[in-house]
Amino acid sequence: MIRIKEFKEPQHNLKSEKFVNPKKLILPLCQHTGRPSTPCVKIKDEVEEGQLLAKEDGFISAQLHSPSKGKILNISNFNHPVLQKGNAIVVLCSPEKKSYSLRKHIDDLGNDEIVDIIKNNGIVGMGGAGFPSHVKLQPPKKIDTLLINGCECEPFLSTDHRLMIENLKEIFIGIEIIAKLIKPKRIVFALEENKTEEKKQINFYINTRKFKLPKTELIILKTAYPQGGEKQLIYAVTKQKVPGGKLPLDIGCLVHNVATCFAIYEAVYLNKPLIERLVSFCGDSLVKPKNVWVKIGTTLQELFDQKILEFINEPKKIISGGPMMGITLTNLEYPILKGNGGFLFLRNHVTEIKESACIRCARCIDVCPMNLLPQEYVKRVKNEEYNNLVDLNIKDCIECGCCAYICPAQLPIVHYIKTGKVYVPKN
Ligand code: SF4
Ligand code: SF4
Repeated sequence: MIRIKEFKEPQHNLKSEKFVNPKKLILPLCQHTGRPSTPCVKIKDEVEEGQLLAKEDGFISAQLHSPSKGKILNISNFNHPVLQKGNAIVVLCSPEKKSYSLRKHIDDLGNDEIVDIIKNNGIVGMGGAGFPSHVKLQPPKKIDTLLINGCECEPFLSTDHRLMIENLKEIFIGIEIIAKLIKPKRIVFALEENKTEEKKQINFYINTRKFKLPKTELIILKTAYPQGGEKQLIYAVTKQKVPGGKLPLDIGCLVHNVATCFAIYEAVYLNKPLIERLVSFCGDSLVKPKNVWVKIGTTLQELFDQKILEFINEPKKIISGGPMMGITLTNLEYPILKGNGGFLFLRNHVTEIKESACIRCARCIDVCPMNLLPQEYVKRVKNEEYNNLVDLNIKDCIECGCCAYICPAQLPIVHYIKTGKVYVPKN
């Protein structure tokens, strides 16, 4: 793991804003891990806010809802910030807003009903991977430790921090729902030491006994990257390693991000689908970096057209996600997905890479949180020797970028690893 400059100011300390009036929304059918959802509307259909637009297709898949009242303009191939292109439903929005009221008789809901509500509202993990939450909430094995991930270790991004400041009670209600479903022996709320503001309030909610939780504690971890990665967080908290090719549940752990807990609260208590999220917009090309609640499907272009974001200079790089694991975008015509926690618009932070030969310094090995051999992947991929990449556990690489960050030869190691993975058999 490495210590890196955080660049979380000023958005870290600013109250979140809300943008509720997009003119058009582009909703890719694949915004989650698993099979893309299947459209259940057609062009010219009138739709209401929260109406189902596309159904899940199989166990690992997720429902997709309309974030706005409007009309279906198109169902076609559009830009996708992860897949580059993908089928999407386009909604022409009308300005009416729906209000959501508290569901009655929540205590009467059985566990199966709660899981169905979460599934039917299209909730997926909000930390990036977008794994359908209803699947994670039905683990086939006993879970001892539920970890609540509030680390947010990527530089610049601060949505989890703002959510914990502004919506902590709702996050705790979400945790209570998860605890009811999976019955862990203990809950650990994990924060990094750079998040001082929310510590007191988290401890207050833990000690208040207002929520039905098993033994719950707050653990403050040293700020490090990639502390928020599932396997790294589990190790930091429990000192248990998730073996290669295994899942956290294989060692009795389950990790949920704080934003997912909030989305679960909204689904169960308000019957509100996952149609909006808090997103960090940061970087030295913006007049004012900020966190904004946006409807899923809003394009970056629309945020600039409506002056929610403004450029102070032309960015040299636009990134979906953080600087370590993010994906470079070529323009602003990309929609915001359920799993997008942030976008960066960078100019002066972008430096020219001058790649040179590996000097075998082993720094990449020292920092790898998965104990891999990054320089071996570079060597083998350069020589097109793909045969034994599997034996070198290339599939365990979480593409965190620590190796490339530390490399004095400025080798784009993650690029070589991604190339190597393409040539590795899937199973
Ligand atoms: S850090 Fe870079 S130069 Fe050093 S061994 Fe790894 S790949 Fe080679
Ligand atoms: S090899 Fe993979 S897991 Fe290890 S530091 Fe590099 S990107 Fe991260």
